[in-house]
Amino acid sequence: MSDIALLPAVSAFLARDHGLYIHGEQVASQASARLTVHNPANGQAIAQIADANQADVDRAVDSARQGFASWSRTSPAARARVLLRLADLLEAHREELAQLETLQSGKLIGIARAFEVEQAAHFLRYYAGWATKITGQTITPSLPSFAGERYSAFTLREPVGVVAGIVPWNFATMIALWKLASALTTGCSIVLKPSEFTPLTLLRIAELGSEAGLPPGALNVVTGAGHVGKALVEHPGTDKVSFTGSVPTGIAVGQAAMGAKLTRATLELGGKNAVAFLPDVGLDKAVDGIIEAGFLHSGQICAAGERFYVHRSRLEPLLEALCQRLGQLRIGSPLDEATQFGPVANKPHQQKLAELFATARAEGNRILHGGRLGDGPGCFVEPTVILANQASDTLLNQETFGPVATFLPYDHEDELLHLMNASPYGLSASLWTNDLAKAMRLIPQIQAGTLWVNMHTLLDPAVPFGGIKASGIGREFGSAFIDDFTELKSVMMRY
Ligand code: NDP
Repeated sequence: MSDIALLPAVSAFLARDHGLYIHGEQVASQASARLTVHNPANGQAIAQIADANQADVDRAVDSARQGFASWSRTSPAARARVLLRLADLLEAHREELAQLETLQSGKLIGIARAFEVEQAAHFLRYYAGWATKITGQTITPSLPSFAGERYSAFTLREPVGVVAGIVPWNFATMIALWKLASALTTGCSIVLKPSEFTPLTLLRIAELGSEAGLPPGALNVVTGAGHVGKALVEHPGTDKVSFTGSVPTGIAVGQAAMGAKLTRATLELGGKNAVAFLPDVGLDKAVDGIIEAGFLHSGQICAAGERFYVHRSRLEPLLEALCQRLGQLRIGSPLDEATQFGPVANKPHQQKLAELFATARAEGNRILHGGRLGDGPGCFVEPTVILANQASDTLLNQETFGPVATFLPYDHEDELLHLMNASPYGLSASLWTNDLAKAMRLIPQIQAGTLWVNMHTLLDPAVPFGGIKASGIGREFGSAFIDDFTELKSVMMRY
């Protein structure tokens, strides 16, 4: 097999002199600095983008303030219609967006099509439905009347204002669309800051947003390195931060937001997610589960499983079957539809994984499969299976965010629960068993924002998602996001 042909629209987009997207149009950055975007599959430069400066951020926030003034007064039904049109446009441009996403992130083209475009369009339609369903409450005040007067009260849900949406590189399109959809459906405006590694699809989607009917300023995109995100968080014109990224950056963002002017912040951060197999799970189901949990998109999913706990009696045959299966994966170009396993998303990430492999070796962990980088200029990393010695080993505590599954055996259920919960993080976990009664007893004892049973990683727009402990603050999806993107106003009347 070979790479699919790039669409002319993709080549033309890459060749553009990319600016920022402010007030409904592409504009030149006021900064002279440029950043190069590389294709992680082969190391080649594919585009140049602006490294925005403070003046650019000021301009984008100013535009978003104007956008907020008009968009927040638009009727809920009109907001829903625009988001639905945007979802249609995403699908109409499915192949173009998927190819751009694969070129900038190294994601398999099939995953780019299915998740970054099709699933993202599905999420967008779900959020569009919420625009017309945001409600307050009517309340009968509790205090007795003093002299026969009566009281009545109600609450309103009002959009919080201008949102700074800061996006990581792993699902650069879909995560940006979640933020955009949460903001726009509630009547907020948004300034999005993509990762410097993966800014291209968002610049294109902003154009589609205008085509769908967004007024100027409702959706703005500023590109550049981390300092651009910092400038947005600290900006006096920003009312809320919606951040997805690593724990250290998330803590800095949370502190900066609080320090700026108590700016509201939702933090969707990383973790070290536990996957537990009870002894009754069959070998094939367990191997499928490990691949689903740990190796989808080369493990570059915040909710991916990283710590795998297997009953000691089952460990050896399971590891053998897993390594055999991983050895059969077809590793190659993400633009080749036959490829099953592509590169990681960028050079610094590849280097970080190399350092973690060195640490694992230094700590005497057994690397049973993989554990090496690929040859050549692409950012390839072998799918890796590690057997740790003890719970304190680095690979069982530090997020790899890569194609690395680290295992530890357990003997008793109490020990399993202790191992699963002994982490400062709590984004997700999964429990694998055929005994659903046992699963129901264990579920309340497992510390995680999302707990899957006999599955891992699947997100649904109707099911709230977010972390506990150091994995974040706030929830996306379901109705949960509405609290984060609106302010509650109480109105009380005497009559
Ligand atoms: P980072 O935290 O490095 O970056 C996230 C975003 O923040 C990027 O756009 C980055 O810009 C920007 N940024 C960097 N410094 C600052 C700053 N001081 N102020 C504001 N913004 C800043 O994360 P990664 O991009 O490396 O993404 C991987 C991490 O994201 C993993 O830890 C993963 O677990 C987590 N994640 C969490 C998810 C969740 O829903 N809980 C989902 C997906 C990922 P730039 O890249 O240009 O430096």
